[in-house]
Amino acid sequence: MTLASSPPQRVVIIGAGHAGGSVAAQLRQDGFAGAITLIGEEPVVPYQRPPLSKAWLAGTSSLDHVILRPQEWYHDNDVDLRLDTCVAAIDRVAKRVTLHDGEAVGYDALVIATGARPRVLGLPGEDLAGVLSLRSLADAEALKAAMVPGKTIVLIGAGYIGLEVAATARKAGLKTIIVEREMRSAARVASETMSNFLERYHGDHGVEFIFNAAAKGFSGSGSVSAVELADGRVLDCDLVLVGAGVVPNDELAREAGLECSNGVNVDGEARTSDPAIFAVGDVSFRPLELYNTNFRLESVPNALEQARCVAHVLTGKPPHAPEVPWFWSDQYDLKIQLAGLPLDATSQLVRGDPATGKFAVFHLQGNVVRAVEAVNAPPEFMFGRKLIAAGTRVDLERLGDTSQSMKDVVL
Ligand code: FAD
Repeated sequence: MTLASSPPQRVVIIGAGHAGGSVAAQLRQDGFAGAITLIGEEPVVPYQRPPLSKAWLAGTSSLDHVILRPQEWYHDNDVDLRLDTCVAAIDRVAKRVTLHDGEAVGYDALVIATGARPRVLGLPGEDLAGVLSLRSLADAEALKAAMVPGKTIVLIGAGYIGLEVAATARKAGLKTIIVEREMRSAARVASETMSNFLERYHGDHGVEFIFNAAAKGFSGSGSVSAVELADGRVLDCDLVLVGAGVVPNDELAREAGLECSNGVNVDGEARTSDPAIFAVGDVSFRPLELYNTNFRLESVPNALEQARCVAHVLTGKPPHAPEVPWFWSDQYDLKIQLAGLPLDATSQLVRGDPATGKFAVFHLQGNVVRAVEAVNAPPEFMFGRKLIAAGTRVDLERLGDTSQSMKDVVL
């Protein structure tokens, strides 16, 4: 389906995060000459979130390294960047959005890039000072200020963000405890081999894990001083980070009557159920042709891929081939890279020895690689990604033998 007979003159983007900022940049790069309005409720130019749990939190990178582009770029490229501005409603009939101060901004094409927000647990004491979450630069500033050496931090949730913050907290000299409802770390996304490895690595760095445990509430007078677990245990602490996943900011889309499920439903061109409206990044529930399913991906590569896709559609460029989803995580000296999704894999094969801190777990369907988790193993990640994209059959014996080059595993 095409947008309209004539190309859009006015593109409005809601959400000046990684995806929204990238749509604006890609549009200009693709030669879009019309008006671009980029509206974001945060007071900062679009920035990268990954460093907020890693280098930025550790104090080894500055704001200049975190922002996507300097403020002047938006002026020089004629992008009307409205910061500190929240979109309150979408009027699909009049084709305009209403800002929180009542101003209306008209569009020919609208891009929803509102991202996601940390899940609130709804537990008693969650509003105490010192019970924090991590999504924005402001959140990271509050966390960084509270991460005083010698203090105790309890992380609720052993997902990738919790694990990254744990690594940074240990480096900063905090006593670090992770409370996880599941029986293992990153259970939603990682293989058991990977979970076991991460737990051992973090354990060696002094992180304490409590599995199969649910937080029941937080206590303290004024600020948090303890986490109460459902089994009655009480963990004394100075600081809590709740890292229990995110929920998509899809309320604007729902209120406007767009089809939503786990986020805003889009097609392979990132188009919603309204042909003039697109949704990109963490807020979008998108098709994954490679896996014959729909999924809400939470990653920078996904935000960039969909940004490129929308810009191509709006400038009449041919669509690009769908990419293999991928993600990375840095913890201590570990470079963790994940490609593909193990949704339909029927077996796993480990290449290398986790005890050496360098290995990869391949998720297979027969002889075909469907996903790979690589630790300090860039060739396995890069080749794995190519193999997933091509659906190439591999020799499993050679794949499991590190003396064989990844190039030689292809059948
Ligand atoms: P966001 O970047 O969240 O941007 C959405 C923006 O929309 C926000 O600024 C929000 O305030 C704004 N907004 C929402 N509603 C409105 C409204 N009504 N009006 C105006 N503005 C609005 N990904 C990786 O691939 N690798 C990593 O290592 C990694 N590490 C991460 C570490 C942390 C701490 C976090 C939080 C995320 C990490 N991610 C990582 C995920 C990655 O950052 C996200 O997938 C990416 O930011 C998604 O971009 P987005 O633009 O969809 O959402």
